[in-house]
Amino acid sequence: SAKAAGKRTFRLFVPNMETRLHERLRLEAKLRHALEADEGLFLFYQPITDVRTRKVTAREGLIRWHHPVRGWISPGEFIPVAEESGLIREIGDWVIRRACRDAAAWEDQARVAVNVSPRQLGIGTLAPAVLGALVASGLPPDRLEIEVTESALLGDEQDALADLRRVRDMGVRVALDDFGTGFSSLAHLRAFPFDKIKIDGSFVQDAVRRPDCAAIVRVVADLGHRLGVTTVAEGVETEAHLDLVVAEGCTEVQGFLLGRPAPSASDIPLIAALTEAFAVRPAA
Ligand code: C2E
Ligand code: MG
Ligand code: MG
Ligand code: MG
Repeated sequence: SAKAAGKRTFRLFVPNMETRLHERLRLEAKLRHALEADEGLFLFYQPITDVRTRKVTAREGLIRWHHPVRGWISPGEFIPVAEESGLIREIGDWVIRRACRDAAAWEDQARVAVNVSPRQLGIGTLAPAVLGALVASGLPPDRLEIEVTESALLGDEQDALADLRRVRDMGVRVALDDFGTGFSSLAHLRAFPFDKIKIDGSFVQDAVRRPDCAAIVRVVADLGHRLGVTTVAEGVETEAHLDLVVAEGCTEVQGFLLGRPAPSASDIPLIAALTEAFAVRPAA
């Protein structure tokens, strides 16, 4: 009967949900411990290269976590957990401090870019966190870049923009990340003077076989030129991707072809030891 079927569904479904909730809570507890003990969290860096000068203008910090039992877990899995639990604020502060500290020691004076979650915006905490990290590290503000996606501007947009304005007023640069995947609203470009637009890698990769995607890359690059904004093509994996985005007018490139995310030299021994113990490598 329908009732019996319903019961069966109920029985199968609930334990599964409980398991997932438990798994999530356990992940959150382990992540909190990693943060408090400063154990197992790393920032990898991926170069962003100027197509004309071929120089590295910036490096994007990408968080990596070595879970004590499961080994390396991708940010795609644990950042959402951190966002839902509110832990992202403390992780975000750690990322900003670590990025500024590392970049202050770079000889080439490249900028450092950090990803800021929507949950870190609109609550008045970004500017003090950035200021604290700049002062502690001695990094000049114009060597720090904050990356936000358009989803960060949904909801309390005015509050989010106020936080971004405060850091930009300090001389920190602000980039619009993953452009093309979300709302791609021109209103966002009007509402805030972004210093950089990052075109999502999926457009770059599709553009080699799809003229419509190449046209979108071209239009965003043209827009960047007219607004006086740097345009970065993300996800450049092949020479064909590189040739295309240069032809379409992007001013900077980022992707596996130019360099994979890699740890700071001082983190390499520890990462090698952790990786050997688990026989699983961190996602590059
Ligand atoms: P994102 O900010 O758009 O970062 C770019 C992602 O693309 C990174 O993945 C990078 O490793 C990957 N990538 C770079 N070049 C290529 C390429 O040529 N081909 C392909 N297929 N992928 C490439 P990752 O490190 O796994 O990070 C994923 C996302 O997690 C990031 O996307 C960002 O949204 C988030 N994330 C990473 N680190 C942090 C962080 O410190 N804080 C916050 N809030 N989010 C972070
Ligand atoms: Mg990013
Ligand atoms: Mg991106
Ligand atoms: Mg992304």
